[in-house]
Amino acid sequence: MKKKIAIIGSGIAGLTLANLIKKNSDYEFMLYEKEESLSLDEGFGIQLSTNSIKILNIIGFNKIDKSKIFHPIGVDFYNIQNKKICELDLTQFNTEEKKYTTLKRSTLIEFLKDDVYTQHLRFGKKIKEVSELKGKVFIKFDDNTNDLVDLVIGADGIFSNTRSFFEKKKNEPKFKKAIAVRKILKTKSELKIDEQKISLMMGKNCHIVIYPLNQNKELNLVCIIRDKKYNPDNIKQLVNKVVAQNSDLDKAFEGDLKSWPLYFTPQILPSTNSKVFYIGDAFNGFLPTLAQGAGQSIESAYELFNLIKEDKKDIQNVYYQERLKRAKIVRRRSNINFFAFHFSSTIMQVIRNFFMKFLIKRKSFIGSYLGTVYKR
Ligand SMILES: Cc1cc2nc3c(=O)[nH]c(=O)nc-3n(C[C@H](O)[C@H](O)[C@H](O)COP(=O)(O)OP(=O)(O)OC[C@H]3O[C@@H](n4cnc5c(N)ncnc54)[C@H](O)[C@@H]3O)c2cc1C
Repeated sequence: MKKKIAIIGSGIAGLTLANLIKKNSDYEFMLYEKEESLSLDEGFGIQLSTNSIKILNIIGFNKIDKSKIFHPIGVDFYNIQNKKICELDLTQFNTEEKKYTTLKRSTLIEFLKDDVYTQHLRFGKKIKEVSELKGKVFIKFDDNTNDLVDLVIGADGIFSNTRSFFEKKKNEPKFKKAIAVRKILKTKSELKIDEQKISLMMGKNCHIVIYPLNQNKELNLVCIIRDKKYNPDNIKQLVNKVVAQNSDLDKAFEGDLKSWPLYFTPQILPSTNSKVFYIGDAFNGFLPTLAQGAGQSIESAYELFNLIKEDKKDIQNVYYQERLKRAKIVRRRSNINFFAFHFSSTIMQVIRNFFMKFLIKRKSFIGSYLGTVYKR
């Protein structure tokens, strides 16, 4: 009998898994999304390192319209006064088939939705009740529809509702006391940056990342600012703390800004039900300081897909152990970056810059710090 799979949530993780199933197996599956449509919000960029591009290529990403993506050749690190500290060559991780890529999130979602939109995606679906029935999982939705499936995949983001139905132990995401502010820039305005690269500016309690999104020279700006409380009505004042450190940034922050609070998952916990799995942010929510959230969503979908396809024994345990190992590597590096990017003391900034200049030239260090994540 063909296995039947319900994927809850149609973000990057859920859609990647759906594509893998559709293109490489004959399982029956359905994506259940609580919203009434896919979020194709324009103002949001994504960086994808080679580990995720390799997987996306299996489902045809290498055929995407090249004008809609960009391959930055490196990362330039600056202090907040726009003075260059050092640079990282990103091409060292690239091959002809898989290159470090930046793009709009909407471009990625458009690509992922194409093959599953009409037949395999149902909107306005939120789980109301779950129960075990004849060795399967019976799911009832808010709108009184239901489904009887062999496997449930929770891909519903960091505040996973699926987890709250299946897990007794709570693992509530925690506010990192930091806020992300985003904007798309049409030009680099007053900034002295190389538009072919990712620019990372580190200031007091804040850092800014700017990168090209496509061949139209649009740039994604994201600024992470440490602050104890999130008040969406107070974003301009929050941003003023950054602009006060360099008035040339004023123009870059002009106009409409999008913002949201940063959350992380305190513990990485397994699923307690052999028929229920978590992928993407529902498995673990990372800080954005290694730009691996989407990449890990794609990786987790791929790992799980392979285990299901091969019909391995003890899938639950194998999946959790593998994912845990990988998530710990990424989490440690994201946390170190978060710590190092935001020093408020000038002495600490000088020491950090010295070590960065030293370490970035060491092939063995870069190989272990980034290569471990990017080359998979
Ligand atoms: C500031 C910032 C910058 C980032 N930059 C990068 C970057 O450069 N590179 C990178 O790799 N990652 C980045 N990320 C992280 C990345 O965006 C996320 O990790 C990734 O999108 C997670 O994908 P997901 O599919 O697991 O979850 P989500 O994208 O959250 O998708 C979950 C889906 O489930 C749906 N859903 C929720 N609840 C239910 C329910 N009860 N029933 C049904 N459906 C439900 C939601 O509507 C949504 O469609 C960044 C994150 C932040 C905050």
